[in-house]
Amino acid sequence: MIEVETIVIGSGPGGYVAAIKASQLGQQVVIIEKENLGGVCANVGCIPSKALISVGHRLEQTKYSDDMGILASVVKVDFVKVQEYKNGVVKKLVGGVEGLLKSNNVDVVKGEAYFIDANTVRVINDDSTQTYTCKNVILATGSRPIEIPTFNFTKRVINSTGALNLTEVPNKLVVIGGGYIGTELGSAYATLGSEVTIIEGGKDILSGFDKQMTQVVKKGLMKKGVAVVVDASAKGVEESENGVIVTYENGGEEKKVEADYVLITVGRRPNTDDMGLEEIGIEFADRGLLKVDQQCRTNLPNIFAIGDIIAGPQLAHKASYEGKVAAEAIAGKRSIVDYLAIPAVCFTDPELATVGYTEERAKAEGMEVKAAKFPFSANGRALALNAKEGFVKLVARKEDGLLVGAQIVGSGASEMIAEMGLAIEASMTVEDIALTIHAHPTLGEVTMEAAEALLHKLKIDATQ
Ligand SMILES: Cc1cc2nc3c(=O)[nH]c(=O)nc-3n(C[C@H](O)[C@H](O)[C@H](O)COP(=O)(O)OP(=O)(O)OC[C@H]3O[C@@H](n4cnc5c(N)ncnc54)[C@H](O)[C@@H]3O)c2cc1C
Repeated sequence: MIEVETIVIGSGPGGYVAAIKASQLGQQVVIIEKENLGGVCANVGCIPSKALISVGHRLEQTKYSDDMGILASVVKVDFVKVQEYKNGVVKKLVGGVEGLLKSNNVDVVKGEAYFIDANTVRVINDDSTQTYTCKNVILATGSRPIEIPTFNFTKRVINSTGALNLTEVPNKLVVIGGGYIGTELGSAYATLGSEVTIIEGGKDILSGFDKQMTQVVKKGLMKKGVAVVVDASAKGVEESENGVIVTYENGGEEKKVEADYVLITVGRRPNTDDMGLEEIGIEFADRGLLKVDQQCRTNLPNIFAIGDIIAGPQLAHKASYEGKVAAEAIAGKRSIVDYLAIPAVCFTDPELATVGYTEERAKAEGMEVKAAKFPFSANGRALALNAKEGFVKLVARKEDGLLVGAQIVGSGASEMIAEMGLAIEASMTVEDIALTIHAHPTLGEVTMEAAEALLHKLKIDATQ
């Protein structure tokens, strides 16, 4: 039996950040990981998907820049090399996580963790079993793809991990589920040359985002030849050696679409089963998620849960943020979570990013707000980049101009949203943003212009 102060289970962006923070705050920490360090995010999520998306962007820029005077007659994709590039990016990042844990004195234990009681964890790996006793546990075991009963995963019925590891660019790809993972991967393969069909059960794809924004993305998908079918329900799949035929229902009719692969992205299930959590009396919320308080503490006071296994959007930076709060709570600090300034980004073409309230949600919650937009098409840098689609929309409280939300659709949205997150976190007003001098010519000026437009609507005089 080995005694430890704090055990972290899972080394994704929640777990490894929590482990480092706990160690920096004076805890003796062991992190347990059954697969690769870095979790879903580094190995089969955020990073490899963004590597493929970046390759697609580079290809598109090379192929379609004739209006900028670049005439590329032969542009080919060597997908084996693309995969080597992507795997290299993952390897470097995983090595970086390992280095960070080491330099912060966190011990890494390889194996699968199972609870004996609230203070005892058994770790099983291929050749041994070891038992640890501890004062505190941070659970960060993440999530895995949900399977649809009539679409069991096979060689050609794939999940996001399968899609990231294909050895060829499919001629045809069907994506079931138009959430951000399905839309990003569908868009990436369309850019790389696949004929893509997205089948979505709801009224629209990317349902969590503002409708005005998703329209811009849908236009971008159409330009790539992606077919988006909404209000459709996937019924079944016939698989042969060379492909699949997917049956779905849409508008009261049964339809079929052929493809090389069908990618299922209908959500992710928390990894909270098969590790003794029910047996030790942890309280669950619905769908396998764990119940926690504002410090990410479960009903068992020495066990914390963070990331994809608790409520809220399944995002890497949310997991890391919660990891820091849990580590601080263990160290006796009074930190609590505040989710308002957590951004969400979808790396489509163009990108979507949102932080804080949308105008619709603010109004639905009874807030009196005003909103204003400014288009990228009126920004010099966007024109120079040949990236004029999209806009920045800001939402502010009517009484005093306090910024409560921002939505950006356009080139660079994923980077630009950080400024708006900072402004919300620091309780800044629209006036503060309008008065912040942004370098010219930059995409950031669109934000400043949107702030000016909103000041005008709010009838606030920035010179007073
Ligand atoms: C294709 C794809 C793209 C994505 N893109 C983005 C993006 O761009 N931005 C973003 O913010 N999010 C993105 N996400 C979501 C993001 O990856 C997750 O929200 C994030 O990884 C959750 O972090 P986590 O620490 O909760 O868990 P995970 O990253 O899932 O890590 C959990 C770890 O726990 C380990 N584990 C599980 N059970 C045990 C056990 N019993 N014993 C030991 N170890 C165990 C697992 O092996 C895993 O390594 C993407 C996800 C996917 C699938």
